[in-house]
Amino acid sequence: MQKLYKKYNVTENDIKFAKGELPHYLMGTVLYDKEVIVIEDFKLLDDEHVRDVIKKSKPEIVMTSKQRSSIMEKARERYIKKYSVDPANPKVDILNGVPLPKEYVRELVRSGKLGLEDSEKVINAENIGIKSSATGPQAINGKVYVHIVEAKNDQYWHKPDGSDWLSGTYAALDRFEEEFGVDMIPYEYWNAWDLSDISPAYNASEALKDLEQDFAFFVVDDNHIVIGWADRLDHNGIARMNRFHSVGVEDPCCGKANWPDDSVAQHEISHLFNAGEGGYWCWEHPECIMNYCHAFWGTDEWCGSHWYDVFVNINGIHD
Ligand SMILES: [Zn+2]
Ligand SMILES: [Zn+2]
Repeated sequence: MQKLYKKYNVTENDIKFAKGELPHYLMGTVLYDKEVIVIEDFKLLDDEHVRDVIKKSKPEIVMTSKQRSSIMEKARERYIKKYSVDPANPKVDILNGVPLPKEYVRELVRSGKLGLEDSEKVINAENIGIKSSATGPQAINGKVYVHIVEAKNDQYWHKPDGSDWLSGTYAALDRFEEEFGVDMIPYEYWNAWDLSDISPAYNASEALKDLEQDFAFFVVDDNHIVIGWADRLDHNGIARMNRFHSVGVEDPCCGKANWPDDSVAQHEISHLFNAGEGGYWCWEHPECIMNYCHAFWGTDEWCGSHWYDVFVNINGIHD
């Protein structure tokens, strides 16, 4: 093991960080334990939907994404100085309880020793009582509101401990804007999702159901979708096809190879717009985010047919 760590330049602190044995990098900031809502611009408060959702969520603090970025950046710099670990770019993944260099996990996948077939999950559409049309989410006047909900800390370490879940979500939203000509308007809800009540505590399906129940009220219209982010669940992500809620997992537990978080966000949000799975092996599907292998290796593309699925659904083109 020591040889492996040395080969990939992994330090003791990198391993401690992955195991959750170092303090959270945001500790001491409001993003660590306060319920904070982040919006792009205070001008958004002119929007009636925005005011309504904020009122119902009862946050402790409302700030702009610029203010939030500055808190994160400062915390990150301090952390790198103190521990020589970059929370935006962790070097170690835990696989079945064993800390392994990320590069080594990639080798395992490349050689076929670690399969990807169960690394993500989709469940079928089912009306869970959300007031909305049967056609699923779609832009209205070219706008989709995206509610990004972060798990709060609990005894199961559900709060994400890095920062790429958030940058990854924004990267994915940009791709939707560029490809489909819609505005994706983000809201962040920090420390808002209590996952301590699900059982088993690592079960992604239970987490999705919990998110759907706790945040049904976000879906005030067909153009509101939700992505919840947690850590240590048993898949990289889960969504219900053609519905409004999805879950992204920063580092999955239980022997699953860890996808990049931008891949997770792009894949899960595509499921919401009725794009199905594209297979597990790179050779069985053109380069496409809906294929597990391409998603693991970090593609940002949709193949022609999945692009078409998202395009018609996000733009509400139904026969
Ligand atoms: Zn999927
Ligand atoms: Zn595809």
